Amino acid sequence: MSDDALAPYLVDEAGNRGSAERLVRTGDLAEIAALLRQASAVGVPVTFSARRTSLTGSALPDGGWLVVLPEDSSPDLVVVDGAEATAPARVLVSDVEAAADAAGRFFGPDPTSRKTCSIGGAVACNASGARSFRYGPTGAWVEGLTVCLASGEILRLRRGEHPPIDGAFHLQTAAGPLVIPCPPAHPAGLKDSLGYATQRERPDVIDLFVGSEGTLGYLHDVTLRLLPRREIFAALVFWDAVGPALDFVQQLQTAPPAGLAPMSVEWFDRASLELAAARHPRLGVPASAAAALFVEQRHDKGDEDAVAMAWYEALLAAGAPDDDRALRIARNKRDLEAFREFRHAVPESINALARGRGLRKLGTDLAWPPGTLHQMVAYYDAAVADVHQALGADGVAAFTAAHGHPPASRLDAAAFGHIGDNHVHLNLLPRDAAEAAAGKALYHAMSLHCAALGGAISGEHGVGKSKRDVLAEVLPPARLAQMRAIKAALDPAGVLGRGNLFSWPG
Ligand SMILES: Cc1cc2nc3c(=O)[nH]c(=O)nc-3n(C[C@H](O)[C@H](O)[C@H](O)COP(=O)(O)OP(=O)(O)OC[C@H]3O[C@@H](n4cnc5c(N)ncnc54)[C@H](O)[C@@H]3O)c2cc1C
Repeated sequence: MSDDALAPYLVDEAGNRGSAERLVRTGDLAEIAALLRQASAVGVPVTFSARRTSLTGSALPDGGWLVVLPEDSSPDLVVVDGAEATAPARVLVSDVEAAADAAGRFFGPDPTSRKTCSIGGAVACNASGARSFRYGPTGAWVEGLTVCLASGEILRLRRGEHPPIDGAFHLQTAAGPLVIPCPPAHPAGLKDSLGYATQRERPDVIDLFVGSEGTLGYLHDVTLRLLPRREIFAALVFWDAVGPALDFVQQLQTAPPAGLAPMSVEWFDRASLELAAARHPRLGVPASAAAALFVEQRHDKGDEDAVAMAWYEALLAAGAPDDDRALRIARNKRDLEAFREFRHAVPESINALARGRGLRKLGTDLAWPPGTLHQMVAYYDAAVADVHQALGADGVAAFTAAHGHPPASRLDAAAFGHIGDNHVHLNLLPRDAAEAAAGKALYHAMSLHCAALGGAISGEHGVGKSKRDVLAEVLPPARLAQMRAIKAALDPAGVLGRGNLFSWPG
């Protein structure tokens, strides 16, 4: 295989890099089954690559064979049948949404990468999005999967058919009965994408493949539960001060005012607003804005005015400015699209700055436990303003010993994202290699801090290869051992997605 043919598939959206000995382009189930049988027999690692929007290196092989899935996609490939949609795994999430919409339905999870990532990738990473505040991650909506195991055996799974019994899943396979340990459920109230876990409600063997990052099987098609389509209210609110905005978010998390039932509660800090305003002046970001909130709520037709009035009154009571430029309410689909464009302009402006500096940004993905909203924001502000304090004396000494100089004392940063879920992406924006090294050390220290409070080191992007070592640091050894036992039951030769989630062999 020539290096030129492989090159486009050996880098992901975060700039992580991989290597492979062989590239196979196929989405044919029988071909993949034969290939997996062969790989298992000879012990060659196999990595699946869909759209490579993953930010953790999970779609990049560390040697072995790389299976590149087809990239054709259209809403026409999605079959909507009542309250369910079935799609080939390679189809874009936005095409699943479009097919659902055309049938008068709605697919809840809304990853920002919806127009560039596949639904199979979204299941494999248990992707979330802004609307996960109400609707949870992708995995919560998976009703069926066609899976090809490492043995080459093809399973057609329906939720409800394989619930856990006595702490294990039981499958009948051609090779005989298979008993697979059942992992714990995702913790209540915490967004996480940390490998194998079950849904809290209706746990099923399907859940093992959700968030498995290509380590347990190839996903060929996916059946998803849909909601009825409803109208969408949206507001974009620029606040003069951070405190009242955070208090309002906390209210939405714990006791929303009457009439408010948001599906999205998104945050943009002052630094991210300044970057977006400089790159896109037409967004009209008020100069006084200390932070912005974007909220969305679904409602029945005819309730537009009542919902808008409930939000308007609640926002004013919370201290939002009573001014059309600061408190913007979507009046039509065009306004709604403009707000969503704003939502995308922020990360895009941050990425452009990082590219301009010739360095990768360090986008954090930490999800903090319930009740820690103010603490999270204060911690991030303090950490980037005083890196030494956040690393602690031992951390600074270890950094200095490793690099021959102390870490940078402060770092540029911009934060935005899913504040409703205590899951704000803090983006560290180094200006040179020395700051990049300090940023890496800070991200590590922040991950340990968040995990010690009961948070997740990945809220939605998954673990892949880039967070594998920190996962091993924070996960109880018994939990890691159980993950390995699950892997051993389904992929005894350890060939699938090798290097994702945990090192293999141990
Ligand atoms: C700009 C941007 C915004 C993003 N926003 C979000 C966001 O809001 N929420 C979020 O959760 N993530 C987000 N991401 C991360 C990424 O888009 C998601 O993780 C996405 O689900 C990956 O899908 P993909 O098709 O690109 O998969 P890939 O990156 O190709 O693969 C990801 C993993 O899934 C496995 N995989 C893919 N397809 C299959 C299959 N058919 N069978 C078995 N394994 C498979 C791969 O082996 C790999 O381990 C964002 C990324 C970018 C670049």
